Formats: sequence, structure tokens, C-alpha cells
Amino acid sequence: GVLMRTGEQPHSSDVVNYAPFTLLPSAVPRALFEQAYAVQQDFNLLVDAISQNKEFLEQTLASTIKVDDFTARLFRIYMQVLEEGLAQTVFLGINRSDYMFDCGLDGTTALKQIEINTIAASFGGLTSRMADVHRLVLKVLGKTKEASCLLPNNPAKGLALGIAKAWELYGSQSAVVMFLVEEVQRNIFDQRCVENELWKRNIRVIRRRFRDVFEKGSLDDSRRLYMDGQEVAVVYYREGYVPQTYDQQNWEARLLLERSRAVKCPDIATQLAGTKKVQQELSRPGTLEKLLPGHPEAVARMRATFAGLYSLDKGEEGDKIAAKAIADPERFVLKPQREGGGNNLYGEELRQVLENIKDSPERTSYILMDKIKPQPAQNYLLRAHSPLQVSECISELGIFGVYVRQGQELVLNEAAGHLLRTKAIEHADGGVAAGVAVLDTPYLV
Ligand code: ADP
Ligand code: MG
Repeated sequence: GVLMRTGEQPHSSDVVNYAPFTLLPSAVPRALFEQAYAVQQDFNLLVDAISQNKEFLEQTLASTIKVDDFTARLFRIYMQVLEEGLAQTVFLGINRSDYMFDCGLDGTTALKQIEINTIAASFGGLTSRMADVHRLVLKVLGKTKEASCLLPNNPAKGLALGIAKAWELYGSQSAVVMFLVEEVQRNIFDQRCVENELWKRNIRVIRRRFRDVFEKGSLDDSRRLYMDGQEVAVVYYREGYVPQTYDQQNWEARLLLERSRAVKCPDIATQLAGTKKVQQELSRPGTLEKLLPGHPEAVARMRATFAGLYSLDKGEEGDKIAAKAIADPERFVLKPQREGGGNNLYGEELRQVLENIKDSPERTSYILMDKIKPQPAQNYLLRAHSPLQVSECISELGIFGVYVRQGQELVLNEAAGHLLRTKAIEHADGGVAAGVAVLDTPYLV
């Protein structure tokens, strides 16, 4: 069941292939794995707090929305729905906080956050089956004891529990959950794992695209959302995080969804909370304390996972760090306000781009981050139609977070499972969907 549709026939569920995966589980330091789980509820709390803090979002994104049209359009919808007044008091967040294991000069490793994905965080479904695959591989190799050490992991169920809770609080037995899906749905089986968990609980699920919402979605007088005559309780976005998704009609569909009484996962404020610019501002001394007053321990746990992050806004601070990165590009990653992999710049390319934009307002649409340098390990990356060879690999650990808030009360706040993705070291960037990383299972050491 760890499957994907093929690139050649991306609309067919009859012709499928296995999703790319490592032949063997990868070693992960137990202490860092436990640290990542222990900080997840804090990050849920933080994302939720940011999403309710208009002043912080406004200030933080002010410079970005002047130069980044996509963030600006999202922000405009955010302001528009606030002005009208929100029709729903229930909020559902599903996020995934991603980390790498940074290797210091003295050989010690540290957990460093890469980013937190607050919209359409994927692979919670397929990864729920990966441990079984690796358990089997280890048994075939005669490693029965090692096979029994692999941890159970079921994010699909955890995510579905969050969606089910939001559905229940919406309070209409006949209302459905709508997965807002892509035009091309190669990763449909990942979504099906979550969907099936909802059907098990007798919750109806429909799958629709932005285009369908534009054509057939409507709101009634109290802003209840209807699709093809069915009332929608929860909208779960698996799409909507890249500019290419949106033509004028799809922007209108997005606005309709945001204005509606349906619970949005995420609402537009929470999507904005996941921007790279917000991440960079969070690392400033004092910001976490301001956002979460009265939570000093949570603040300390989160801060311990932060890598160096730097603003490229106009001014002395930005000038200084830009010059530093141009002089020593191998130390940094240059990131635009984009999601989905393959957008970041490294090395010589980073140097050239930064050199070109260092005196232009465009610089503000990027942030800089310290480059994390994990210790590579050998593994086999299995991909359909690719020869099998041993590769030097590095891994990225993701922890899924789920929370539900009703008014001011957090009624659910959980870490819902993990995802390990591994890639060959020659690729600086890119996830599983981008064809670079593959699914993996942590073997704790
Ligand atoms: P996206 O939103 O496109 O997923 P990420 O910030 O997660 O953006 O970066 C994409 C990929 O680039 C990551 O999965 C990781 O492999 C690599 N990457 C990002 N930031 C760093 C960093 N600071 N150090 C090393 N690699 C990084
Ligand atoms: Mg990422």
C-alpha cells in the first residue's frame, strides 16, 4: 500500500508504482527523536497563538507583502475575512515540524528545525505503513530482533482524529469533510489513508478542487458552505500553498472557503503563520516570549531547536548578513516565501542571486538561514525504473502536530506521529513529491 500514481499516467489509479523508499531504516539518535516529540505540543501552541495575533502577522509580513505578490494576496484575504468577522469559532491545525541532525565540529549532533509546515503537510498516510515495510525487509535479512525495535507510527489516524474532532464540534451529523485536492493527484493514496480513517468513524468525505468550489460552491445566509448540495463541516487543504495553483477563479474560491462557516484546516491566518518570514522573526530574542507569555519552558524547548535565521530587510542588519553570505555562501541557505521544495538557493547560486538583488527591494522577499550539516550515512534509495546503488544519504525528521481550538479553549493538542525522509547528499533541496527524497523509518540508536 505504499503507492503513488505514476508520472506517465498521473490520473490513473489502475497503473501505480511504489512510492520511493530506502531499502533499510536509517539510524536516528534516540535523544534527538524524543526531543522532537517533546517540543511538538509547544509548536502547536505557538502556531495557534500566531494565527490569533493580528498585530504580529501585520508587522512581521509588512515588508514581505510589499515585494511578494503571493504572500500579499493571502494577506489580503486574511484582512478581508477579519473585517467581515469570522463565522466559525472552531480551529483545526495540522502541521509538521521538520528537523535535521546538525553535526558539530566535535562530533556531537543537535536537533535543528528546518521549517514548520502549516498547510498540506503530506506523507502522514504513506508513512503509517513504512514501518511494516522495513520490518519485513529486516526479517528477510535475518534481523528479527532489529525488526522488533521499529516503533509503531500512525499519523494517518492522528490526523483523522483531529479532523473528526473538528467535524464533531461543527455539530451537524449530515455535513461532510471536504479534502481540497490538486489538479494532478499523484499522491492520492497518502490522502486516502487519512480519508479511510474518517469513513471508519462514519464521517463522509468528498474530494474537490478549487475549480469545483468556484463552479459549485456556495454560502447560505449564515455562511454555511455547500458543495453540490452537501453541507461542508471541515475543509482540509492538500492544495493552495503555491502561486501556480491560483488563477482569478481559484482566488475567488479560496475567499469563499475562508469566509465560510466550515472549519478550515488551516485557516488563512495559520497558513501565514507558516511563512519563512514568520519563522525568521520567531528567532529574534524576545519574540517567543511575547507570543507565549507565561510559557518559559515551552519557549526554551522551542528555541533550543532553532538554527540561525536572518532578516534581509532593508537596513544595516540586512546589509551586513547579505555581505557575509556573499563572502561565505557555503554557510547559508537563501529562502524565498515558497513551499513544496526546490525553491531554496545554495552555494554559488546563492552568491550570484544575492549579489544581484542586494541593493534591490526584492531582497526583502528572502530570508537567510544557517546551513545544517548532518553526518551522511549509506543506504539504498529505491525508486521505480532507477538502478539500485548505494548512496551517501542524509535524513530529515518530521513530527506531525494536531490541535483543535474552540473559542479560547484548546480541546486537543497532540503529536500525531513522525515521518523520516532521506535523500542523497548531492541534492541540496527537494522532498519526496519533488522526486529527490524517499520515505524512510527511524531506527533509534
Ligand atoms: P520547503 O517549504 O520548500 O519544503 P524547506 O525550508 O523545508 O522548504 O527546504 C526544503 C529542503 O531544503 C529541506 O527539506 C532540506 O532538505 C533543505 N534545507 C532547507 N533548509 C536547510 C538548512 N538550513 N540547511 C540544510 N538544508 C536545508
Ligand atoms: Mg520543507
